[in-house]
Amino acid sequence: MNAEAIVLRTWPIREADQIVTLFTREFGKLKGVAKSAAKSRRRFGGALEPMTHVRASFVERPRQDLVRLDYFEIVRSPLSVAVDYTRLSALAFFAEVIDETQPDHDPNDAVFRLLLTVLEAAETGSVWMPVTYFALWMTRLMGWLPELRRCMLCGEALDGAPAYFHALSDGLVCVHHKRLASGTLSAESQRLAAQIFHAPAGALLDDPWPRERARDLRRFSVQTLERHLERRLTSAAALVKLGG
Ligand SMILES: [Zn+2]
Repeated sequence: MNAEAIVLRTWPIREADQIVTLFTREFGKLKGVAKSAAKSRRRFGGALEPMTHVRASFVERPRQDLVRLDYFEIVRSPLSVAVDYTRLSALAFFAEVIDETQPDHDPNDAVFRLLLTVLEAAETGSVWMPVTYFALWMTRLMGWLPELRRCMLCGEALDGAPAYFHALSDGLVCVHHKRLASGTLSAESQRLAAQIFHAPAGALLDDPWPRERARDLRRFSVQTLERHLERRLTSAAALVKLGG
């Protein structure tokens, strides 16, 4: 069988074999064994790096969870441009969110396309735009995005005023319903969120994206993802350490 896929992660098992988690366009997430991957550069050379876009050739095995991976052909490698620690952390964030949110054998073309979009955007400039774009869109594609225009408690429109969010509750509230230790989502970031849902990622690439930009929107999006996943995302914590 063949599939278009993004490599999420790999880990070695006995001898030169590797287990590989893939997010495929046609079959959703699946795991496979790449036999002798460490030795066979011909079959997998360079293609097992996380976030590599590949054409994967594999065989399903009866009564086994793991498919047998035969070879990968690289469509696009994240290593084709210079990689620094910030970029690697962004790629790790994409991988972790996909791995945590996507069930096995359940394809999701919208999520797949989003991933291709942000991988491409992450090659051309600041990673903070694609990270923000991805985190916010994932909350929406998973059906976890709360109403952003109104206070979730009193229903009042937030129009142009800062809004508040909290790790223990969904959505945004107005200043009157803000709890202790809330995060603040600025009016500018609320506008940016609306723009992210209405413009393709490419349209946002020309703006400067220092790490401070929309940091509050990233916090809000990651917090929403974590609340629904009921766990912390380690890669998101790494991005926060980088000041993002
Ligand atoms: Zn309110």
